[in-house]
Amino acid sequence: MIIRATAIPLAIYPYSSTSHIVHWMTRYHGKISTIIKGALRTKSRFLGEYELFSTSELLYFAKPNSTLYTAKECALLEKRPAFRTDWRAMQSASYLAALFNKTTPEDAPQPELFHLLEELLDRAQEFGAHPNFLPWAELKFCDAHGHVPNLGNCVICSARDPLKFCAAQGGVVCAACAKERKLATLESPPDVIAILKSWADADLPARVTAATLTGKQRTEIHAILSAFMLYHFDLAREHRLAITTV
Ligand SMILES: [Zn+2]
Repeated sequence: MIIRATAIPLAIYPYSSTSHIVHWMTRYHGKISTIIKGALRTKSRFLGEYELFSTSELLYFAKPNSTLYTAKECALLEKRPAFRTDWRAMQSASYLAALFNKTTPEDAPQPELFHLLEELLDRAQEFGAHPNFLPWAELKFCDAHGHVPNLGNCVICSARDPLKFCAAQGGVVCAACAKERKLATLESPPDVIAILKSWADADLPARVTAATLTGKQRTEIHAILSAFMLYHFDLAREHRLAITTV
């Protein structure tokens, strides 16, 4: 069966001396993998028609009972050129691609997740170099998965304070619950909680990247989201550190 799909490459690997294997996020067919035969040949018709973080129209042959399909044609739709020149923005895009690649199952259509990836990559072109961008993007990602950190009262007993953040509990816990259950917690003072709440509510990153944080606030926010993403989405901490230690 030939399928036409709007698709974004999440990862591109060499295969044999002339081909590529590409993991794609598609709009209506979920995550798929294709081989692109002869991709590395100088006269390949695929040359320049797909690249990481760009959107292409892809035509592929989907064989039943196979997880690796064959790309037939490809045409670049949206290049997102900022990632060519803005190294930090490209690092954010790279993290987002890895995040979606790691957490999206194959062949499970999730148009809303494709839409989110597209939107986050578009925003990353303008705002991705800012250290506040990634936590904001992660909060949008968590929201799309119905998994936003709970930043209200203690998730166990509903006490109001003093609160610490516990990734395993999915949000803040009070000191008494943390002690009683021997929970691993991170510092989450009220100012940090307030910032995270406002970022979780922000539909656009402009307000988020305009916020000026103290070094302590930045460190605590990254520690909280890093632990949360690692616990709930099993994302390698090293990948995130490469971007956030700037
Ligand atoms: Zn409690």
